[in-house]
Amino acid sequence: MGKLIIIGGGIQGCTLAVHLLKTQKIKKKDLMIIDKNAKPLQNWTRCTETISMPYLRSPSVHHLDLNPFSLEKFLKREDYNKGHFYGYYDRPSLEMFNHHCQSLIDEVELMDCWQQSSVNGLERNKNHWVVRTDEGKSYKSEKIVLAIGLSEHPFWPEWAYEAKVKKASIHHVFQKDIPDFNKLDPAVTVVGGGITAAHLTLKLMTLFPGEVTMIYRKELQIHTFDSDPGWQGPMYMENFQKTKDYQSRRKMIFEARHKGSITKELYHRLRKAEKEGKIQLVKDEVTSFSVDTNTMHFQSGLTQNTGTIILATGFHSAPPGIDWLENTINQERLHCAECGYPIVSPATLEWGEELFVMGPLAELEIGPVARNIAGARRAVSRILQAI
Ligand SMILES: Cc1cc2nc3c(=O)[nH]c(=O)nc-3n(C[C@H](O)[C@H](O)[C@H](O)COP(=O)(O)OP(=O)(O)OC[C@H]3O[C@@H](n4cnc5c(N)ncnc54)[C@H](O)[C@@H]3O)c2cc1C
Repeated sequence: MGKLIIIGGGIQGCTLAVHLLKTQKIKKKDLMIIDKNAKPLQNWTRCTETISMPYLRSPSVHHLDLNPFSLEKFLKREDYNKGHFYGYYDRPSLEMFNHHCQSLIDEVELMDCWQQSSVNGLERNKNHWVVRTDEGKSYKSEKIVLAIGLSEHPFWPEWAYEAKVKKASIHHVFQKDIPDFNKLDPAVTVVGGGITAAHLTLKLMTLFPGEVTMIYRKELQIHTFDSDPGWQGPMYMENFQKTKDYQSRRKMIFEARHKGSITKELYHRLRKAEKEGKIQLVKDEVTSFSVDTNTMHFQSGLTQNTGTIILATGFHSAPPGIDWLENTINQERLHCAECGYPIVSPATLEWGEELFVMGPLAELEIGPVARNIAGARRAVSRILQAI
């Protein structure tokens, strides 16, 4: 029997694994990471590469390693030029960030702990947990960490889902089988007003100049980060933690997130491209789509024809993994808030006996940054106290 199984080897799970192995809290032989993918961080690389995001939105101190200045040291050690940090907060280039992740994965020999499988069940058996997978295998472990993210649950608005069922040329930018952008049928419409929509529009513009429209519901909002930096520390978190009602916490998280916002430089790049006639920016809301005529109908009453629609509408708000966790929740009487998300111990993020959560599943304790790299680091520091 192993000591610890981490379910999910994305940014969250890998941050924990790197910390556990580098601090020697656990030996490689006692750690297993079970993930659907063949390699670590595959959802991260797929999503960020699809939109050709040049720089992360988060600052240089947010990464998978222990020392906050690890990425800065890495820049010097690997002879990256200073252009790999952008702006006041030294936001790292995706290229250097990914290289840094890979060097950590190699350093701790993470692949020795990797088990590619899809988990479909989790049971408590006396003093240990049993993890079941789609291939009918089971693995025993003293402790479990759930580090499953939302990247595999893209959100489809109802009109879009109906159009998809009718075989319209419509895709979600984060679906796993996104077609080759070179082969899209123009004109192309991007639906969404956030950072993903902005990156995607600018990428598609280079392939289809003058034939890309970005449609967004609210005025474009400029924010450096996806929540105020005050949420990184006691400034806002103190009040959040004092709030004992989980519905109120959910409301605080919702209000704190600058959902559908973009950075200043992206805003200027979009407006410049619009002026040059390379893209169209339209503030409106799609309400339906006529598949036979390829026509989008808008809230304003206007219509527009399009060859392809790509949704940049984010992810589902339902807690990830809840389908296969339902039995565990019932059998172990695990507490969930009204929004369906786990209620966990503040000190160690323990949901049930020796069962811990991080990422979105920990957000009622970690707050609005739970899904981000900063949230992973904060979750790790709490979970480590119990391991
Ligand atoms: C385009 C984009 C840019 C972003 N940029 C930033 C940024 O600059 N800074 C920042 O802090 N955050 C950023 N984020 C937010 C966040 O850091 C990423 O979404 C990150 O990839 C989330 O990691 P995760 O581990 O929660 O989820 P995932 O990457 O989805 O990893 C979860 C893993 O769990 C596995 N899994 C799920 N269910 C099962 C199961 N049943 N059995 C086995 N395995 C399972 C999946 O296969 C997956 O590999 C960005 C997000 C996106 C989409």
